[in-house]
Amino acid sequence: MAKEISPMMKQYFEIKKDYEDAILFFRLGDFYEMFYDDALVASQILDITLTGKDCGQDERAPMCGVPFHSAQNYIAKLIKNGKKVAICEQVEDPKAAKGIVKRDVIRVVTPGTANMDAVLSSDENNFLASVYVDSEAYSVTFCDVTTGEVITTDGDNTVTENQLVNTLACFRPKEIIINDSAIKESKPVIELKTRFDFYESYVPAFYYDYDNAVTELSARFPSSQKMMFWDKPNCIKSLGALFCYLKETQKIDLSHIQEVSYYKSCDYLEIDLSSRRNLELTETMRDKSKRGSLYGILDHTGTGMGARKLKSWIDRPLITAELIEKRLDTVEELTANPGIADELRDKLRRINDIERLIGKTVYGSCNARDFLSLKQSLEHLPAIGSLVSKLTSSIMAEATLNFDPLSDIYTLLDSAIEEENPPLTIREGGIIKDGFDTELDKLRRVMNGGTSLLAELEAKEKERTGIKNLKVSYNKVYGYYIEVTRSFLSMVPDDYIRKQTLTGCERFITQDLKEAENTILGARERVNDLEYEDFMYVRTTITKNIERLKKMAELISTVDVLCSLAKAAALNGYVRPKVNDGSEIIITEGRHPIVESFRRETLFVPNDTYLNTTDSRFSIITGPNMAGKSTYMRQSAIITLMAQLGSFVPAKSAVIGIVDRIFTRIGASDDLAGGQSTFMVEMNEVANILKNATPKSLVILDEIGRGTSTYDGLSIAWAVTEYICENIGAKTLFATHYHELTELEGMIDGVKNYSVAVKRRGDDITFLRKIVRGGTDDSFGIEVAKLAGVPDKVISRAKEVLSAVESGDKHAEKSTVEKLSIAEEKKVKANELRDAIMSVDISTLTPLEAMNELFMLQKKVGELSED
Ligand code: ADP
Ligand code: MG
Repeated sequence: MAKEISPMMKQYFEIKKDYEDAILFFRLGDFYEMFYDDALVASQILDITLTGKDCGQDERAPMCGVPFHSAQNYIAKLIKNGKKVAICEQVEDPKAAKGIVKRDVIRVVTPGTANMDAVLSSDENNFLASVYVDSEAYSVTFCDVTTGEVITTDGDNTVTENQLVNTLACFRPKEIIINDSAIKESKPVIELKTRFDFYESYVPAFYYDYDNAVTELSARFPSSQKMMFWDKPNCIKSLGALFCYLKETQKIDLSHIQEVSYYKSCDYLEIDLSSRRNLELTETMRDKSKRGSLYGILDHTGTGMGARKLKSWIDRPLITAELIEKRLDTVEELTANPGIADELRDKLRRINDIERLIGKTVYGSCNARDFLSLKQSLEHLPAIGSLVSKLTSSIMAEATLNFDPLSDIYTLLDSAIEEENPPLTIREGGIIKDGFDTELDKLRRVMNGGTSLLAELEAKEKERTGIKNLKVSYNKVYGYYIEVTRSFLSMVPDDYIRKQTLTGCERFITQDLKEAENTILGARERVNDLEYEDFMYVRTTITKNIERLKKMAELISTVDVLCSLAKAAALNGYVRPKVNDGSEIIITEGRHPIVESFRRETLFVPNDTYLNTTDSRFSIITGPNMAGKSTYMRQSAIITLMAQLGSFVPAKSAVIGIVDRIFTRIGASDDLAGGQSTFMVEMNEVANILKNATPKSLVILDEIGRGTSTYDGLSIAWAVTEYICENIGAKTLFATHYHELTELEGMIDGVKNYSVAVKRRGDDITFLRKIVRGGTDDSFGIEVAKLAGVPDKVISRAKEVLSAVESGDKHAEKSTVEKLSIAEEKKVKANELRDAIMSVDISTLTPLEAMNELFMLQKKVGELSED
């Protein structure tokens, strides 16, 4: 017979059923307890002891728990391990409760909404994304609850199918919700899931319902009629769902979310996902580190807010000359006034993360230390303001105009918040300064008066009784008492009331002592309450001023980024590029900003780049391995991108006709990303480029066609070149080991041959790293192999084979080459077959589709074994 479960566990199950996908932190006294599967999972991740709880049934329920005062760190650890945590509190005073204390979930912490420092990194936004997709269109809304930013965007996924993926690559959300109808069928969603690593939360379909969304948004933004997204039904859907989800999980009014900005991808330089990775814009491909990325080179920001903004500028460079010039003007002004720039950077370093402090305030998770840190930040605003006002470039002039030193808030914090090590809690006093609240001051005097009252009382009693070692003390259980040692007990007067007998002494109270105690303890309790009230007053005042604080946070971070760019320019010898709407890219003595930074001892050899949309729009670059082809092409792309984000560039001079998109295809052997060096991936990316590049785009092709047999590869490379030149007209740099392609110069308009100069002396070669006009038909393969340390025996044998092949030992040559190429073909086919099998997504196939697929695969296997 099943036994009754205990009432408390009944309550637990009642609550847990609404939070199946989260680990439920169930508050019991000073602990959060977890039960059943939650306990099994959490005890593993958190490395805490698994115990059991008797809850009325035959078997004890698995249980583990964490103390509530250190819960934040445990929650952070669970979030980092890809879990959600639902925090269930006692929502009534246990003393007032009849029966079981009422409990409720007060917040669900998810990967995309976590705001504890232990989860966040200061230079990275923590975005939650809400994606809406249907057969024609998509929309995504991003929200960072730690800063209150909300950005929405939409697009047509029939035109450019990768745009959704590219948009997500640009914002790197930690968690995604998707409208449910799309989850299985849509190609973009499948693509999303294969290319990104993110936490997906499931939400009910009505979240994305248009009418529901309109209601949700009208309530949030009363003046929504004028909002940028209001005529965009898909944005409304993704926004509506986002706010539904936030309401469900955060359960508070996120008052720091005050506006939604509409992001149009065509207002920015578009960079697809693989190009972002290839160019190592914000992290390296190998170990995802900042060092070795463009961001790593450019970052000299002093604040977390500035670092995040710099990343967003790198992620989304501009395409409007006027806006780019504005940034460049300021960078130039700061470079020309290094004194002011240095002073500014020095002040900026003292500014804390105001944006995230605001977020904490809204969440009610701020304490006196946070406010102290806000005050210490605001303290430097006037100095920053006066430095900024010395600058006249338009961004700085505007900043001066809008500069709000927030002195009222500074004064409030300065007069209210205790500076000497305020405690972490806000309930136990010690946080409000003397002089802020007269009532509080009075009570404190009583409290302190009480203390001297005790001293007086002790002196008086000593005198009255003649007991020399009589003393007044305190403990938690008995309160204040008078202690008399055994040898003096006979001298104790009649009005002493005995409280406790110990081995060596006895403890008493008196009427006077009782009264003193009441005054002291009563005052202390009142003091704590008053301090809490005062703290709440400060907090409310801050909340009321969020808009002003946010504006200043925005201004400070912009100044910070510009100072950072100026610093990078000065340190690395960058120059101001000329940016215009023309069609030429002219880089003289350009350098690769990252490669040069890693080789300070040996000099980096600068190179020129010239591209236009007429006679020089397609450069074919040949040269041996390791000569510097990839570096050269990447540097051209990175310099273009740097110019468009408003940075100075590593070159002697640069004219950049603005490009709309940058595409890079880095050859299979160079592609470290995810180890997917298959021909299929390569061709996918080529297809993407051919479909989406425009005459205003910059295309980098690094060794395409390597993943297949020589003749296939050459033919594809040839045809791609023709197609880009004849049908697209995009500026293109193409490095290739197919020397045959150099024949295209003169055959197709706009094609120019370049090669990397190599000096040869006997068997030895030296890389000169210089890009020169004209193709080369020598790949120096054997020399490079020698340089790389391949044993001499192999080198000399290779030379024998080579000369046999070249001297026309026709028979030997042919058979060797033929055998090689048949084996190569087979390997390629086998690889293709493996790819085809591995790419079948079993979970989405209908039985009929599965049979068809199987038939196709059988056919391919047949072909493979035939030849
Ligand atoms: P390729 O693509 O031709 O095989 P890479 O561009 O990968 O050659 O360059 C190989 C190495 O040569 C790089 O890792 C870099 O250290 C060095 N290198 C490339 N270009 C230069 C240069 N302009 N100046 C100095 N060193 C360079
Ligand atoms: Mg290369």
